[in-house]
Order: sequence, then C-alpha cells, then structure tokens
Amino acid sequence: MTDVRGTCKVCGYVSHLGAVAQHHIIPKDVSKQAGMPESATVNLCCNCHFELYTWYRTKVTDMVYDPETKRFRDKSWDEKVKDYESAFNEFKKYRDEQKKSVRESK
Ligand SMILES: [Zn+2]
Repeated sequence: MTDVRGTCKVCGYVSHLGAVAQHHIIPKDVSKQAGMPESATVNLCCNCHFELYTWYRTKVTDMVYDPETKRFRDKSWDEKVKDYESAFNEFKKYRDEQKKSVRESK
C-alpha cells in the first residue's frame, strides 16, 4: 500500500487524502469557458478549501468598470481566469501572514 497522506499547501496540515484534496486554482468550468486547459492543482485541506471558496466569492467579480465607456461590463473569461489566479495568490499570502502572527505571539 502506498502512503496516501497529503499536505495542505496553504496551512501545512498533514492528513490522509480524504481530508486533503486536489483543488484546481482556476475552477474547471471557468478554464473551460476561457478555452484553456485545466489549471494546475494544489493540495488543500477541507478548511482551506472552504475558506478559499468564500474568498473567491468576495474577490472574483463578474463585472468590471470600464473607464472609457464609464459603464460596468461583463468580464471576459480570460479576465476571470486572471482574477482567480491573483485571488489564490492573495489568499495564500493572507494565510501565510496569519501563520506568522500565530508564531510570533507564542
Ligand atoms: Zn489547509
């Protein structure tokens, strides 16, 4: 039997694979709509996975303000892909800082 443990890329939590799952940085339906291959995956524990989706909901928006027309317009799928990428990086940074502040307060 192989070792089926996984480590969460965000918080470092090590568990059996049932609790640490492969997560697509760009949701599959979004990369599909943008005509791109599936994005890279990272291992995430249930907690971080849940938090990341909440994060995506607040960080990734469907509309963007266009200063030229002074109107909101729908984002293209390409723009959304970029949003998901930067939202993921921000999330990781945010969690890293949380980890640091926990360590420093000890
Ligand atoms: Zn985690």
